[in-house]
Amino acid sequence: MNKSTLGKLDVLSVFITWAILISLLSTLAYLKIFADPNSSAAILVYLFGAFFIAALCHAILAYFNRCPHCSKCLTIQGFKPPHPASSGSRDKVVWHWFSGSIVCIHCGQKVDTNGL
Ligand SMILES: [Zn+2]
Repeated sequence: MNKSTLGKLDVLSVFITWAILISLLSTLAYLKIFADPNSSAAILVYLFGAFFIAALCHAILAYFNRCPHCSKCLTIQGFKPPHPASSGSRDKVVWHWFSGSIVCIHCGQKVDTNGL
C-alpha cells in the first residue's frame, strides 16, 4: 500500500473513532435520561466494541504513518510537548490532514500528506 493512502486511512480511522466515541457518550446520556433502567444496554456493548476496533485500526495504521523527516509517528503525540513550530496538537494534525500539508508535531517540519 502506498504511504499517502496509508496516512489517509489512519486519519480516517481517527475520525471514525471520534464519531463512535461521540455516539457512545450520547447514547449513554440518552439511556440514562430516557430509558427504562431494566431495558437492554446491548447497544452500548456494540458501540464499545466498534470503538475498540476503530481505535485498534488507528493504532496499527499510525505505527506505519511516519514523518519523512524524523520518522516518528505523525498521528501519535506521546508524552513530550509538541514542537513549537507545529500547529500544536495531534488533533490539529488529523484535522488538517486532508488539506494536503501538515507540520510534524515532533520535528516541526512541513509534511506533504499527499506525497508521503
Ligand atoms: Zn517529524
